Amino acid sequence: MRVLVVEDERRLAAALRDGLEAEGFAVDVAGDGEEGLWLARENPYDALVLDIMLPRLNGYELCATLRAERIWTPILMLTAKDGEWDEVDGLDIGADDYLTKPFSYAVLLARLRALLRRGARPRPAVLQAGALRLDPATRQVWHGDTEVELTAREHALLEYLMRRAGEVVGKLEIIEHVWDVNFDGDPNIVEVYVRRLRTKLGAATIETVRGAGYRLKDG
Ligand code: CA
Repeated sequence: MRVLVVEDERRLAAALRDGLEAEGFAVDVAGDGEEGLWLARENPYDALVLDIMLPRLNGYELCATLRAERIWTPILMLTAKDGEWDEVDGLDIGADDYLTKPFSYAVLLARLRALLRRGARPRPAVLQAGALRLDPATRQVWHGDTEVELTAREHALLEYLMRRAGEVVGKLEIIEHVWDVNFDGDPNIVEVYVRRLRTKLGAATIETVRGAGYRLKDG
């Protein structure tokens, strides 16, 4: 497995390289966004670990450029805890997962392995599930022919459920992806947002699977 780490903090980049190499990965490191983009275009990496704040080209621009060129290498983004950027923005431009700095190396490894198992998955420009359509780029949602207005968080939740349409998705998994891995509030916030989506999209759109989570209808 070959991984590209794009990170301008030299000590963190070196620690990631050493750690991943010790796990048997082949690792390349790029110290700025332009070099990262060049390497990611030229080499068939199995995954990218991508910092957001980078010299020359930031992680969001790098990610969006790759996706626009239909390069679907799985991307794990590293975000700063003070959140200069919203994680929701990252989902929109095609990253696959997030980790908030500072993170534990064990968690990074687990997330990376999960991405590698999934592999590169082409993302259609517009997501579709049943009567629902969602355009991640423009943040528009339609139910049949009717456009539906959603808040940023409602949109992120719906997008996550649509990407997993037909599958049961657990509350904690939703929180990790739509809120934050470090979210320490009440997990029932998910229920609140699911109710809002049902109100806007129809009660039958999202099914509650008791004790397991939620499932967005796929047909
Ligand atoms: Ca940085």
